[in-house]
Amino acid sequence: MLSDNIQRNEDGSLSFAGHNVPALARQFGTPLYLMDEERIRANCRMYIQAFRDNFGDAALPLYAGKAASFKQIYRIVGQEGMGVDAVSPGEIHTALSAGFPPEKIYYHGDAKTDEDIRYGVSKGVGWFIVDNEAELQQLNIEAERQGVVQKVLLRITPGIDPHTYHSISTGTVDVKFGVALETGQGFAFVHQALTMEHLDVQGLHCHVGSEVFDESVFEDTIDIMVDFISLLQQKLGYVTRVLNVGGGYGVRYLDTDKQIDIPARIAHVAEHLKQRTGEAGLPLPFFLMEPGRSIVADAGMTVYTVSTVKRIPGYKRYAIVDGGMTDNPRYCLYKAPYTVLNADRDTMFYAVYDLAGRCCESGDIIQPAVKLPDDTRRGDHIAVCTTGAYNYSMASNYNRLGRPPIVMLTKDSSYVAVRRETLDDLCALDN
Ligand SMILES: *Cc1c(COP(=O)(O)O)cnc(C)c1O
Repeated sequence: MLSDNIQRNEDGSLSFAGHNVPALARQFGTPLYLMDEERIRANCRMYIQAFRDNFGDAALPLYAGKAASFKQIYRIVGQEGMGVDAVSPGEIHTALSAGFPPEKIYYHGDAKTDEDIRYGVSKGVGWFIVDNEAELQQLNIEAERQGVVQKVLLRITPGIDPHTYHSISTGTVDVKFGVALETGQGFAFVHQALTMEHLDVQGLHCHVGSEVFDESVFEDTIDIMVDFISLLQQKLGYVTRVLNVGGGYGVRYLDTDKQIDIPARIAHVAEHLKQRTGEAGLPLPFFLMEPGRSIVADAGMTVYTVSTVKRIPGYKRYAIVDGGMTDNPRYCLYKAPYTVLNADRDTMFYAVYDLAGRCCESGDIIQPAVKLPDDTRRGDHIAVCTTGAYNYSMASNYNRLGRPPIVMLTKDSSYVAVRRETLDDLCALDN
């Protein structure tokens, strides 16, 4: 199986996190998001432990809330000792409503409005990750107005493409996030930030991308950042106390995907950072990473019920289910791969289907060309694996479809962390 929390029982039905999937579908209805709480906790502990082993107390993993943002997830990651990376007042509000401590929130975003900045400062958000000069100026004004000195990290674009990391292509300078090093703007950005009286410039942030599988992406990033940190020290006498290298470790969506040994990777990254800062005569900065996907992806599964199977002789078959691009837009957005299983039964006799949704869009495909039993039919339960990241958080109400609930699975029970949206919820904002 794709992940060790997914099992096929003797009667052919599927289990997830030790719970029978068809039984959960009957109990809670479909479409249904399931989340394995123990797996989320185990993924947090993997980062926490690896950070402690390699950095002692001088490091903190932050959960990137955009992967899946709802109150219970903040309680869980908070209990495990993680910080949180947030990108909007909505995410911050969700975390604070769950009792998450504001001083452990790192506020990202490339388009923070004056109102967003005011909100973040007034809520005591510990850290702003400042994306650009306009934000820098406004944040300084707002911090002065509220009589605080705001801790910040400055977002730098190191110019690394995580998928062709050895060619440091200029193409990757051309992104909307952060300030580029290559053009000299990164240096000017730091220089300017240091003149801001109401900002405490603690260090630097960079994030090279998502679904990182290549071995040395973070090491190459560190090489560039340490050179820059050195330059800042020589030219400005500025000591970088915090370095945040972003998120991005990839997960397995298909059996053919590599399994990344994250603790081993972190050990290697730590060793590299210590070596490079040592060579440059720099103090080791406090180290941050922002994993999102690798905390929640393999803790998730989506369950649907087949509405109909459409066979077009000479073409193909569609298995059409009661959810779709509204609860999982990732194939539509970027051809994301997923493993799809019939949750009720296994068979020797398979056929190939496009798994399609219920939305009024021909492109509403959850996954094309999946192998499902030849006799897949109305009423069958279909499981899409590894949907814990960027599914619920990207869900929409297109076609006025209500978002599915999130049901958390623990060792011996299950509970609703987010309830299903009702028809009345869908009209709740309408006058
Ligand atoms: C998306 C994002 C992350 C999380 O990335 P994952 O691939 O989910 O680990 C972390 N930091 C920043 C700045 C991001 O944009």
